[in-house]
Amino acid sequence: MAESNHLSPGWNLPAGEALLQDVFGIVMEEIVRKGTDASEKVCEWKEPEELKKLLDLELRSHGEKQEQILDRCRTIIQYSVKTCHPRFFNQLFSGLEPHALAGRIITETLNTSQYTYEIAPVFVLMEEEVLKKLRALVGWSSGDGVFCPGGSISNMCALNLARYQRYPDCKQRGLRALPPLAIFTTQESHYSLQKGAAFLGMGTDSIRLVKADERGKMIPEDLEKQINQAEAEGAVPLFVSATSGTTVLGAFDPLEAIANVCQQHGLWLHVDAAWGGSVLLSQTHRHLLDGIERADSVCWNPHKLLATGLQCSALLLRDTSNLMKQCHGAQATYLFQQDKFYDVSLDTGDKVIQCGRRVDCLKLWLMWKAVGGSALEQRVDWAFTLTRKRYKRWELGEQEREKNLLVMGQARDVTDKKRQCYVQSPTLLNPVVPSPFIRGKCFLFFGVC
Ligand SMILES: *Cc1c(COP(=O)(O)O)cnc(C)c1O
Repeated sequence: MAESNHLSPGWNLPAGEALLQDVFGIVMEEIVRKGTDASEKVCEWKEPEELKKLLDLELRSHGEKQEQILDRCRTIIQYSVKTCHPRFFNQLFSGLEPHALAGRIITETLNTSQYTYEIAPVFVLMEEEVLKKLRALVGWSSGDGVFCPGGSISNMCALNLARYQRYPDCKQRGLRALPPLAIFTTQESHYSLQKGAAFLGMGTDSIRLVKADERGKMIPEDLEKQINQAEAEGAVPLFVSATSGTTVLGAFDPLEAIANVCQQHGLWLHVDAAWGGSVLLSQTHRHLLDGIERADSVCWNPHKLLATGLQCSALLLRDTSNLMKQCHGAQATYLFQQDKFYDVSLDTGDKVIQCGRRVDCLKLWLMWKAVGGSALEQRVDWAFTLTRKRYKRWELGEQEREKNLLVMGQARDVTDKKRQCYVQSPTLLNPVVPSPFIRGKCFLFFGVC
C-alpha cells in the first residue's frame, strides 16, 4: 500500500480499501443476490419529494464517516430499480450476466481510455478482435469499426461517414459544401435518426419516411418511389437506414431488396441492428438479416439482447480505406504523436468524435470467452422459442395479453403489490416475451414471427 502522506488531502488508501471491500459485499448481497430474487421487489417506489428527503442529496463542505457512506450505498440500492430482477422487462435490458458484469467491474476499476495503445494496450487489441468477430458475423472478412457510446451515436456517426464519403469537403467547409440531402427510413425506425439529422445540421426535414407494411417492414417499392420523388424535388438522395429489429414492433426490414435499390441509386446503406444484430449469432434465425453483408455500415448493441450491460454498441463498417479516421480525425499532436515506438495505427482514438473513450469491449469479450459462441446462440434461439410460445398463448385471448402488459409509466398502480412487474410498450402488435435464461431472469424479446 502506498504511503498516504503522498496522497491528496483526504485520500486514505487503507481506509479506501476497507470501504471497497464493504461496498462489494453490499453489491453482492443487495443487487446480485436480492436483486435477482423474484420474491423481492424490483424497486421500492417513492414519489420524488419523499425520495429526495430519504436520500438527503445536498452536498456539504464536511465529509461523512465510512459507516454513514455504507448506509448511503444501501439506501441508493434500496430505492433504485433492479434491472437484473426477473420481473423487470424492458427492451434495453436482459438481466445480469455475471461474466459481463465482471468485465464491467474490471473496466471501471482500471479506468483507462480506449484512445491510444500506450494507455490501453490490452483493450486496443481486444476491441479489434471483438469487432473482427462481429464483422465476420455480418459477413465481412475485412472492414473497420469502433465501439460507440450507444446505438444513437453509432447511427449518427454512420450518417456523418456517408456524408463525408460523398462530400469530403464538408469536413472543412461544413454545410456550405452541401446540396440539400435526403435520408430514407420508415416510421418504425429509431428516433435517433431524427436526432442525428438535426445534430449534423441536415435537419429533420431531410428525412423521408418510407412506407412500412402491417408488420412494420420497409416496403422496397416505396423506397424507390421516395428516392425518385426526392430527386424530382431537387434533393440529393444519400442514405438509407434499414432496421433489423425495430424498437417497438420487432420488424426486420427486407435487406436484400433494399440493398438492390441502394446499389442501383448509389446510396449508402446503413443497417440499424441495435437489438436485432445479435440474431446473427443464430444459424436458425439469422436469415432475418439476409443481405446485411451488402450494407456499408451496421449498428449493433450487444448490451440489448446479449446482456453485456450498458454500454456496448458497435458501429461496423465495410470500408477499408480508413474513412472513419479521415472523417473524424483531427491529429492532435499532444496525443497522437506519429513518432511513437510502436505501430501508431494502434492509436484508434482519432477515429471517433470523442477524446477519452470508455472501454466497452471487455464485458462482451469476457462473456464470450466464458460461455462460448454456441451458448450465446442458444440464448438467442431460446428467446425465439419463448416468444412463439407466448404468442400462441396470447392468441387465446386479447384480454390475457392486456393483463400481461403494464406500462412502465403506470408503475405507480402496482406499488402496493409485493412484486412489481415493469413492462414497456403496451401497444405492441407482435408479442413480447419474458425469456428466462439466467437464474430465472426474464428479458424481453419482441416477436419476429
Ligand atoms: C435501442 C435502439 C437504438 C438506440 O440505441 P442506444 O444505445 O439506446 O442509443 C437505435 N436503434 C434501435 C433499432 C434500437 O432498438
